[in-house]
Amino acid sequence: MVESRGSRGIAIGETGVADEAFLADWSALSGFGAVAGTNGVERQAASVADGEQRSWFAALLEARGFTVVRDRIGNQFGLLELSPGAPYVIAGSHLDSQPTAGRFDGAYGVLAAAHACFRVAEELRATGRAPRLNLAVANWFNEEGSRFKPSMMGSSVFTGKLQLEVALATTDPRGVSVREALAGLGELGEEDAFGPGTGREAASYAEIHVQQGRSMEEDGVTIGLVHATWAAHKFGFRVTGEQAHSGSALMADRRDALLGAARLVVAARELADEFETGALHTACGELNVYPNSPVVVASEVELLLDLRSPSREVIELAREKLMAVVDRVRAEDRVGIEITAEHAWDQNPYPEAGVALAQRVADDLGLAHGRVMTVAGHDSTNMKDLVPTVMLFVPSVNGVSHNLDEYTRDEDLLAGLRHLTAVVRSLADGALAG
Ligand SMILES: [Zn+2]
Repeated sequence: MVESRGSRGIAIGETGVADEAFLADWSALSGFGAVAGTNGVERQAASVADGEQRSWFAALLEARGFTVVRDRIGNQFGLLELSPGAPYVIAGSHLDSQPTAGRFDGAYGVLAAAHACFRVAEELRATGRAPRLNLAVANWFNEEGSRFKPSMMGSSVFTGKLQLEVALATTDPRGVSVREALAGLGELGEEDAFGPGTGREAASYAEIHVQQGRSMEEDGVTIGLVHATWAAHKFGFRVTGEQAHSGSALMADRRDALLGAARLVVAARELADEFETGALHTACGELNVYPNSPVVVASEVELLLDLRSPSREVIELAREKLMAVVDRVRAEDRVGIEITAEHAWDQNPYPEAGVALAQRVADDLGLAHGRVMTVAGHDSTNMKDLVPTVMLFVPSVNGVSHNLDEYTRDEDLLAGLRHLTAVVRSLADGALAG
């Protein structure tokens, strides 16, 4: 076994064989939905590529003695019951991706969770000791929300924040429902996996993810102790005008929905500049134009617009300013603007006990660590409201995210796995479980 050394001088070779097993599985997982000529992947929720990776993942779990179950929203769990009847530590993240995305976002967390549980299970088997809690690995369905909205769908249903029937009836842009897509892959379960009537209870949760930002890389931090989520306010807007010939209609007569939408896109960008640098992030990530035809003034545009900030006050002020722009565009461009969807959350702390546990583990392992906030939501954002939760980050080179070039170094992947393993070991022994 080759003893290797991380760029920060951290020995990562002690668990060499297990590390090699992880990297081999990582390489295999990265092949599903691989985008030719790039290092990235495309495996949106319940796509063919997602189905393939789910089958592969189920086989991996079963080969290690885990029982695989799917719940009624397609969350995939690997269960290892070592202490009959005891509640479970769940560790996981999501395998689905955005279109033309990086291979690390979510997938690293799922595979690291699996290997952390494999390692803890092996230790327990070797000693013959039964832990206080059983082990579960989770692959949450549709965290990204690119094909089916909203994001974090599987963990939202699991934690009772989204109704199962609403989620199953959600359709993609081609009219295929979540229910149809999951059933078509054989990934729609018929029962809950946890909770009343299942005989299984979740006691705690752990997740590791690549940072979707570059502060850890800049600060030389290997393990991010995630202590809060940024606040966010997401809007769906429908801008309506009147269809007309784009050449012959008099300029003064036009009611151009695309112009109105464009003003909102620009307003969102300019809003960010009205606050201190870094205080507000804004974006329009999706725009659907009708009829989207060369010689036609658009009659309708649907767009999704996000406001994000660590501060709820900033979000509230930004929302007011945005609504003032909406009123002005309605009047000046003579278009209709309605809000079709709104989804907001406050700055949201993770439990301090989980942060403290993660910090102790990092100290024990000699891994450079620091407290960080997450801008993006994660499945742990839901799970922390249900059970004691630990959320961890590893660095991402240049903070590149939702991009084919997303990259995290092997040494950081392995350091994160070592850390997560120690967290799962502690949780299985009852840490945070009261
Ligand atoms: Zn993710």
